Amino acid sequence: MQRALLCVLVIVLAATASSADPIFAGEEYIPADAIILFNGKSLSEWVLTGTTDPAPWKVENGYAEVRGGNISTKQSFGDCQLHVEFWLPIMLEAQGQARANSGVYLPGFYEVQVLDSYGLDSRDNDCGAIYGVAAPIVNACRPPGKWQTYDIVFRAPRFDAAGNKTANARMTVFQNGVLIHDNQEVAGPTGVASQPDHKGPGQIMLQDHGNPVRYRGIWVRALKPG
Ligand code: MG
Repeated sequence: MQRALLCVLVIVLAATASSADPIFAGEEYIPADAIILFNGKSLSEWVLTGTTDPAPWKVENGYAEVRGGNISTKQSFGDCQLHVEFWLPIMLEAQGQARANSGVYLPGFYEVQVLDSYGLDSRDNDCGAIYGVAAPIVNACRPPGKWQTYDIVFRAPRFDAAGNKTANARMTVFQNGVLIHDNQEVAGPTGVASQPDHKGPGQIMLQDHGNPVRYRGIWVRALKPG
């Protein structure tokens, strides 16, 4: 009898823990100097990328779901710390880059890949990769259907008065609290097509890659040049 009672208690506790899944700590734990970019209720800090139109993603149940194009912050940022929480749909029929693809772009088009890469031997285009530049040190992915976090420290590239680059961008990335890039140098904007370097502050962007990826709990801190 006691054992049965204990089993019930364990099941109830487990159910409570999984339904709460409290990765998003709530605003009381957000640093005082952070700018909240998405609080689960409104995408008023975002626009459809390349326009001044409202961000078209669906907002419900405390998250925003990808649809209708990439979205960018209204504000521009240079050196910064960015916190993002993301959730990947289970897409068993899809493979590789077609499986819950999205992306978090730091100012100037530097992508940290968002993808279902659970359990894979990560390459430089898998989840946690700085796209096409560096694979994560370790695969820190949770399975699809679980909320995950990125904490990214971005140091923008430096340019002299004549506009010549004097230092490449650098990125430190934690996924779910695990260090996956340690002050990684990044020679320029990431992606398939090579792009010119962006100079000065830029927008943060979230990618619509055609998959219903969800985001919540997004905040950023401007950092002093270090
Ligand atoms: Mg992507």
